[in-house]
Amino acid sequence: VAKEHRRGSGETFDKRYEQASRDSMTVLNDLRIALENKELYLVLQPKVNIHTKAVMGYEALIRWRHPEKGNVPPGAFIPAVEKSGLYYTLDLYVARAACELINAHPELNVPISINISANSLHHETFVDDLKAEFIAARIPFAKVELEVTENALVHSDRAIGELHRLHQCGFAICLDDFGAGFSSLGYLLRLPIQVIKIDRAFISHLTDSDEAKAVLEGIIKIGRDLKKQLIIEGVETEAQLTLLQSMQVDFVQGFFFYRPLPVPEALALLGSHQN
Ligand code: C2E
Ligand code: MG
Ligand code: MG
Ligand code: MG
Repeated sequence: VAKEHRRGSGETFDKRYEQASRDSMTVLNDLRIALENKELYLVLQPKVNIHTKAVMGYEALIRWRHPEKGNVPPGAFIPAVEKSGLYYTLDLYVARAACELINAHPELNVPISINISANSLHHETFVDDLKAEFIAARIPFAKVELEVTENALVHSDRAIGELHRLHQCGFAICLDDFGAGFSSLGYLLRLPIQVIKIDRAFISHLTDSDEAKAVLEGIIKIGRDLKKQLIIEGVETEAQLTLLQSMQVDFVQGFFFYRPLPVPEALALLGSHQN
């Protein structure tokens, strides 16, 4: 909803915008309280090796149990967080929660990934503060993978520089939602990434469109040639899985295997497939 309606322009607010901004103010206020009260917690979605069906890693995803509204999905507050300054606080909160989780579960023998906002890479002290969380918790950086959603912000010189610093100290970096937004294949060469997670959009059209299949095959080929680890997200059906198996894909994530799970349930899977 356009710039004409910006505060201070002397014009009246668009009603929808007014509602949206009021809601996002409410969300942000509630969220500040939630961060203090620890209403936010992590669930884990397994990443699966499609040949052995073993869990090869976990992605930590944030959940919010609001005292009045009940469970608020990330889609309802992450966008507001990204537009405010709160991404920095949230990302560090998640890092700390991940550290606590790792220390509480010594049986965790596969990497865990956390999502960080590309905005945080533009924050003055974020990288040092993130490292400090892991150092304080005595957790080696290499135990953790950082997922950053591909968008315009991630392609700035500043963000790329900060990603290099994170990679140099041992974090694995995963480019999340690849292909969904501002992709430019040339950028792949500049980003210090080891993992590419291919956006769900490609998978959802896989079984009904030869074009979608061709594009996905192309992306997979590029990823392989660049020696990146590839993960396909959003695998929901057996038909999708069968097609992916014919495309030399090794790792997937999606409701077909597992939804995001409470931590104990997720970690109980570790023993069950000879990890
Ligand atoms: P994402 O990082 O791309 O995470 C994948 C999202 O897709 C998750 O939604 C997950 O539950 C969902 N998903 C996984 N498999 C399937 C599937 O087979 N089908 C469908 N339809 N969906 C699937 P979720 O947990 O609602 O998170 C949404 C987004 O919010 C995440 O996308 C991520 O960008 C952001 N987010 C989640 N947790 C955090 C966090 O701790 N910090 C930050 N900064 N962002 C987060
Ligand atoms: Mg992710
Ligand atoms: Mg994402
Ligand atoms: Mg994703």
